[in-house]
Amino acid sequence: MKAGVLALQGAFREHREMLAALGVAVTEIRTPDQLGDVDALVIPGGESTTMAHLLESSALREPLSAAIADGLPVLGTCAGLIVLAREVLDGRPDQEPLGAIDITARRNAYGRQRQSFEADLTIEGLTAPAFRGVFIRAPAIERVGDAVEVLAEHNGRPVLAREARVWVTTFHPELARDSRVHKRFLEEVA
Ligand code: GLN
Repeated sequence: MKAGVLALQGAFREHREMLAALGVAVTEIRTPDQLGDVDALVIPGGESTTMAHLLESSALREPLSAAIADGLPVLGTCAGLIVLAREVLDGRPDQEPLGAIDITARRNAYGRQRQSFEADLTIEGLTAPAFRGVFIRAPAIERVGDAVEVLAEHNGRPVLAREARVWVTTFHPELARDSRVHKRFLEEVA
């Protein structure tokens, strides 16, 4: 299994290290040709407006969209979730999401006071202990389509969801020193 981490901006190093620790060969993806080389992709957290711009300027947007439509498994965390969503609220007008998963995401949904927090999450399919969710200026999933399965919630809101081979988290699993979300994603999409 070869995994790629979109490395245009944001927390890609932490994902790379976590995947490498799981014994996966990891490539940082910055150009369209590198995309053809991987069996799964992670889109990290960071700043989704910047990432959207960089996807355009690196000519990755179209090939990435096509690869996902073709079945490339992808895990999008935080800003990565916003990039993959069908609809984005409180985004910038020029921030056109890829529409790879039928969810509506609201950017910076937790407001200023609580821009960052941690919470114990019960994730379907994982046994105890709870997974420590690190939320950093996190988006919220405000709507999920019928084909979307919610695997974890926090305060009644979905925080981990998937539709076919597209997985998204509103938190940062790469910062938890716990590789179970990455492991489960890879096992289920491999
Ligand atoms: N608030 C950021 C955005 O809108 C996401 C935050 C993150 O990825 N940690 O893109």
